[in-house]
Amino acid sequence: MEVDQSHPKTLIQHEAPFLTVLSCLGGSHGCPYHRPQSQTPPPVNKRAKKDKTAPAKVESYVQVITHDTVLFPEGGGQPYDIGTLTSADGELWDVVDVKRHGGHAVHYVRVSDRGVDAALKAFTSGSIVNVALGEAGLARRLDHMCVHTSQHLLSAVLDTRDLPTLSWSLTPYPAPCYVEIPRSMSVEEIASVQEQANKLVFEGRKVHIEVQELHEEVVQKYDGPSVGIPTDYTGGVQRTVIIDGVDRSHCCGTHLPSLSNLQLFIIPHTESLARASTTSARLYFLAGPRLITYLTSTHTFLSSTANILSCGAPNVPERVEQVVDDRKRATKRVEDLELELSATIAKNIIAAFQGKSKPIVLYKHRTDDAINALGFLSSISFAFVNEMASRAEPTPYLIVFSSSPSAQSAGSTTVVTVFGSDEKRVKEVGDVLKSKLNVKGGGKGPRWSGKFTGVWKENREGTVVEDALRL
Ligand SMILES: [Zn+2]
Repeated sequence: MEVDQSHPKTLIQHEAPFLTVLSCLGGSHGCPYHRPQSQTPPPVNKRAKKDKTAPAKVESYVQVITHDTVLFPEGGGQPYDIGTLTSADGELWDVVDVKRHGGHAVHYVRVSDRGVDAALKAFTSGSIVNVALGEAGLARRLDHMCVHTSQHLLSAVLDTRDLPTLSWSLTPYPAPCYVEIPRSMSVEEIASVQEQANKLVFEGRKVHIEVQELHEEVVQKYDGPSVGIPTDYTGGVQRTVIIDGVDRSHCCGTHLPSLSNLQLFIIPHTESLARASTTSARLYFLAGPRLITYLTSTHTFLSSTANILSCGAPNVPERVEQVVDDRKRATKRVEDLELELSATIAKNIIAAFQGKSKPIVLYKHRTDDAINALGFLSSISFAFVNEMASRAEPTPYLIVFSSSPSAQSAGSTTVVTVFGSDEKRVKEVGDVLKSKLNVKGGGKGPRWSGKFTGVWKENREGTVVEDALRL
């Protein structure tokens, strides 16, 4: 009992089962690496782990072995099938996973609310059951077959260019699958490989399987650290998948009968992988249902972007470039204007206090939806300090600026900056902002700045600042 210890394995037939599947044998290419996917039956109480207050819904499964099956257990890089079992009484049962246990394909059948006893009764040894992929299972299998056959084709074409397939991954739908190769390829090389592969697709090369009895010496021959028949595999056959005139690879996977209608699309760049001893690359590809999904989604992205930019799809790159350039120029202009404005504001403040022969003590609040509102406040403070330093008789000063967005909520950020000619007073005001308004911030010497979270009101938070300045 490997998955659900509480329910015994049910054997329908006791005769030596003849199974249609066999784990990957490996070969010159194809799927040389037995790379099981980490797809296991759904955990029985996943929800309970996440939410301790929710009642645990325990899913039960029975493991069923049939005399023969159309469902593929995971192996050779190809994930397991899902499907249905129809018991003799006409009940339909979901197969959520198929795993190879030794030489047997074991179906993981969801018990659901019918109960374990009913499941054990339905699958008593010797019962006749119907195994089917079902609609969802067929869609999943068709996708797996398309990409698996495409991988054999792609690896065969890459082999002719001295680029052996080191491994491959049949990623979950609809992400592109990939083959790992010893080095990166140029866009031109990739286009040429794609052309060669699709030429064979247009020719509609046939794909068929050769089956040989599995002998001990064959197991020995192909056994290795990562290539070969799993050591627990017994009583099966050795399969060779042949693409007419193109490729022969030992493989346990399921394949299309012909390359026609396959259409292989290679994503025109490789992703480099740096490992301790080697540098390899991933070449991503799409075929069949994944290719259609990819084209549909990329077309949708392109169309909606073209709509936003009010242009035709072919003009999108040019328009986006233009928008990015415009944005850069606008940002630069805002920065320049802020700098210019800062100097004017600083001079105006000093002018307003001219001749009053008392220190400049001031609090000013602004509304600003800029991403970096603190940047502008700092810019004014620097302009002020410079302007004051240039005066023959500088006036002592203590100034606080704050800036809030136009629409404030509990999560809004108001930025505050304090600067003055007396470092001690700057620190004191900063300490009041921290203790009374919970402003998170700090400073050094004549400057202090921080962030306030929530709604900043002139007659509430503003009053606290005014009081701090009068201390
Ligand atoms: Zn294969």
